[in-house]
Amino acid sequence: MPDLFIDGSWSSGAKGLTREIRCPADGTLVATVDEATREDTERAIAAARVAADDGRWASVPASERGRLLHRLADLLERDVETIARLESLDTGKRMVESRYDVADVVSAFRWFAGLAGIDLGRVVDPGGTGTFSRVVYEPVGVCALITPWNYPLLQASWKVGPAVAAGNTFVLKPSELTPSTTIHLVRLLQEAGLPDGVANLVLGAGAEAGAPLAEHPDVDMVSFTGGLLTGRRIMAAAASTVKKVALELGGKNPNIVFADADLDAAVDNAATAVFLHSGQVCSAGARLLVEEPVHDEVVDRVVAIAEGIRLGGPFDPMAETGPLISQAHRDKVAAYVERAVADGAVLRTGGSVPDEPALATGWYYPPTVLDRCDTAMACVQDESFGPVLTVETFRTEEEAVRLGNDTIYGLAGAVWTGDSSKAHCVAAALRHGTIWINDYHPYRPAAEWGGFKQSGVGRELGHVGFAEYVEPKHIYENLQPAPSGWFGGTEPTNS
Ligand code: NAD
Repeated sequence: MPDLFIDGSWSSGAKGLTREIRCPADGTLVATVDEATREDTERAIAAARVAADDGRWASVPASERGRLLHRLADLLERDVETIARLESLDTGKRMVESRYDVADVVSAFRWFAGLAGIDLGRVVDPGGTGTFSRVVYEPVGVCALITPWNYPLLQASWKVGPAVAAGNTFVLKPSELTPSTTIHLVRLLQEAGLPDGVANLVLGAGAEAGAPLAEHPDVDMVSFTGGLLTGRRIMAAAASTVKKVALELGGKNPNIVFADADLDAAVDNAATAVFLHSGQVCSAGARLLVEEPVHDEVVDRVVAIAEGIRLGGPFDPMAETGPLISQAHRDKVAAYVERAVADGAVLRTGGSVPDEPALATGWYYPPTVLDRCDTAMACVQDESFGPVLTVETFRTEEEAVRLGNDTIYGLAGAVWTGDSSKAHCVAAALRHGTIWINDYHPYRPAAEWGGFKQSGVGRELGHVGFAEYVEPKHIYENLQPAPSGWFGGTEPTNS
């Protein structure tokens, strides 16, 4: 069956291009999928434009849009094993993690299903003064939804959920490396009864299949999750038609451990913060900031955990984390560590490709700890997006905050302390979109997610993540029309 979905039909690309999807754990062929050209993407945009302009989805009652999202969530629950398997094959992540991801996807869709029917607008002026004035929230129109490879289905759900709930039409483009679960999602949207033309799917590389989404005048909004450099490119391309832009970009997230913290919890979570999914998490706690008196103990214990983490493929029951997404990405992570050591970081563990024969066919890289780092080093400033932890030391609360904010990013951070008042002071001072106190990684669909500074523009999830997908419109009615008298010699009325 072909893999592009345009105007309610599955088709191959106009030029018949295809791409092999291979599992990063062992290189096995997962699928050969159709690939879109620029012309295919433009065809998808045209279909979404027509569907937006004739109102076939926007005119459906909001409560029915919510019901469709609940139906979609039911279908995702029905197919959880199939979807988890596809996600694991594409990304190399363990089945258990993919199952968690599907559960999170279901929660996201149910959250937006609940939002669909509320907050449709408000009356500003009820008519007592001779005018009736209200604000309504309309769909933005045609949305371009561009997603990365690390959480393919989850990132799609954070965009498709609000787009559908608010009555938009869209063109969805997943990462060329991990399209399988997004294809399945679109099949389920069709099964759930979404009208033709509302959801459109194109696959392929960013420069060819993705670029028209940011450039095209018929796209009203582009919501992008991915790397900083791509985000800048998309923002610049979108500027030519002044379209709405929502960007979820990278992070270089500080995890701050004070000496008075529960060190058992802090150490264990410091390892999870950075090594989960082999560090391929935008909010990974890749910068560990430790108060000086407990530096040695904390680092020794994190190193011990790192050295015990078992690498393996998605279906290996003993594996605790998987491979990196590609050879190119592993090469990038390896070069980042080499540069860090050259810059003076102390390599405590990891730092070279594992030589076990069982791991030879995948893009594995071991959990790596770099001690004695400082903010002048590239390894502290640049996102590695791999299993690499840098460690810095601080002496005072002020220094912890200063270091935690010394980054161009502002996605997430954590503070560990037994002193609640100190925790909340630090949380208030950190310029990051999510702050955890005595925890790392949890998020809630009802809470906004996104970044300060160069971690992005706008928010996903929460109420604001829904509001990105609507345009407010003020409708003002004069109930007693009369000449204004502004020109022509009479005294103007003051309305
Ligand atoms: P990427 O920027 O390489 O690609 C992301 C998507 O953009 C892909 O679908 C790609 O094909 C597409 N793309 C590339 N060039 C394009 C262009 N010119 N026009 C339109 N589309 C284009 O990112 P990636 O390597 O897939 O993902 C890793 C990055 O994503 C990391 O930096 C990570 O921090 C970030 N990320 C952020 C969040 C968040 O919530 N802030 C979540 C997940 C990932």
